[in-house]
Amino acid sequence: MKKLQNFINGVYCPPASGKYFDNYDPSTGEVYSLIPHSDCEDVSCAVSAAEAAYPIWSAMSVEERSRILIRLSVGIETRMEEFVAAESRDNGKPLSLAAQVDIPRAISNFHFFATAILHFASESHYMEGVGVNYTTRKPIGIVGCISPWNLPLYLFSWKIAPALAAGNCVIAKPSEVTPYTAYLLGKVAQEAGMPQGVLNILHGMGAQVGDAIVRHPKIKAISFTGGTKTGEYIAQTAGPMFKKLSLELGGKNANIIFADCDFDEMLSTTMRSSFANQGQICLCGSRIFIERPLYKRFKQAFVEKVSRLKVSFPADPEAKLGAVVSKPHMEKILSYIALAKEEGGTVLTGGHRVLLKPPYENGYYVAPTIIEGLEYTCRTNQEEIFGPVVTITPFDTEEEALKMANSTEYGLAGTVWTSNLKRAHRVADNLQAGIVWVNAWLVRDLRTPFGGMKSSGIGREGGWEGLRFFTEAKNIFIKS
Ligand code: NDP
Repeated sequence: MKKLQNFINGVYCPPASGKYFDNYDPSTGEVYSLIPHSDCEDVSCAVSAAEAAYPIWSAMSVEERSRILIRLSVGIETRMEEFVAAESRDNGKPLSLAAQVDIPRAISNFHFFATAILHFASESHYMEGVGVNYTTRKPIGIVGCISPWNLPLYLFSWKIAPALAAGNCVIAKPSEVTPYTAYLLGKVAQEAGMPQGVLNILHGMGAQVGDAIVRHPKIKAISFTGGTKTGEYIAQTAGPMFKKLSLELGGKNANIIFADCDFDEMLSTTMRSSFANQGQICLCGSRIFIERPLYKRFKQAFVEKVSRLKVSFPADPEAKLGAVVSKPHMEKILSYIALAKEEGGTVLTGGHRVLLKPPYENGYYVAPTIIEGLEYTCRTNQEEIFGPVVTITPFDTEEEALKMANSTEYGLAGTVWTSNLKRAHRVADNLQAGIVWVNAWLVRDLRTPFGGMKSSGIGREGGWEGLRFFTEAKNIFIKS
């Protein structure tokens, strides 16, 4: 059985504990590799390596750092097939999705920040007759990056690329559920000529190695993406240590659909925004509000199309949905479907586990599910499910739609569908969300601020925001 290794000080090494735990293939439910059970000893070792590397990396010219990061991006591209296969196997997502979205986006993340750093500038503020202020932005030092399982390499690279570009040394931890592509990245870093100790990748459980990263006094900033509960815990731990914190947390996104929208475009995009990656994208819209005159037509067409989506093993070229990421996660999704029924909802399509033929009979497959008839305040409509489950609800007025959309503790993303320009601006402006798409979904420009409000997080990633997070600003005044 393949044993994954940590990547510390530029080399692969076993965990200090010598212990490993199982890594499951969600498409079959079988164990297919072993994950290092790392702990605070591995974190100490990685911090020592990063401390030694920091003076070299932070003093290197930005052009040289940029060249190394571009080589990292090209290195992933050269091994495209290997990365695509690993991501799909580890996560259960269709191979086609890993090939079209996950791995190309990880390549772009490294390329984007490798070039962005060349253009990163700081401010100066001139005071007439008094003097001038200029701001420097230096790397923080050693930073921690902790990422989730839904878009494994995509979100891992979204953090470590700006951290490295800005001149920091990194201790990074992918999710224990999907460690494989982060494991492969070590080899690419070696080949790209990344100095040893600059990028350290540790595997293991959040409660052990993740917690040790958050607590280590020499790790000065934590960039975290994951669930709101974990974010709360991290904030409680890192806050009193005055660590810089970026928290990208859960969501319960709303799609608001007005009757004057372009129906066909809305429908095909809503199919994606509901069920792409088995609904396991933090930006998926899981609560769909439809203006009443369009409700019946939408319901009929949506249910008809969704019931024809093929749920299949990841390598099936016709698979529209693959497996969800783990058995506990599948059970959580199914328990929410049961809850929705208890709360008075009607399942219009799906609502059950899908059993495939051998060798996939033990895989974690859930049918895409649409539920109607629920109060917007019920738990199904307030809590994050993070699976292929959406609810549909009619509304009569713009105010009512906004009231329902803004009723959750979350504020990550939302979509608005209308051909009325004034209304588009008004509703987008009043939606409590960090990211709003009008007549679109998941159009990503890496220069824009990315993140949520309310319990969906603190801070923004992307573009200059990402680079600013990973630097410490200092203002210097000179009297004229
Ligand atoms: P978790 O919060 O369970 O885990 C996220 C990461 O944190 C994992 O690497 C995990 O390790 C680690 N972790 C867990 N406990 C601790 C701890 N005590 N200290 C330090 N690290 C810890 O989230 P999931 O992996 O289940 O991801 C799904 C969640 O991520 C959803 O809520 C989703 O909305 C959110 N998400 C948010 C995004 C955004 O941009 N706002 C984007 C994508 C997802 P381990 O896996 O080993 O437990």
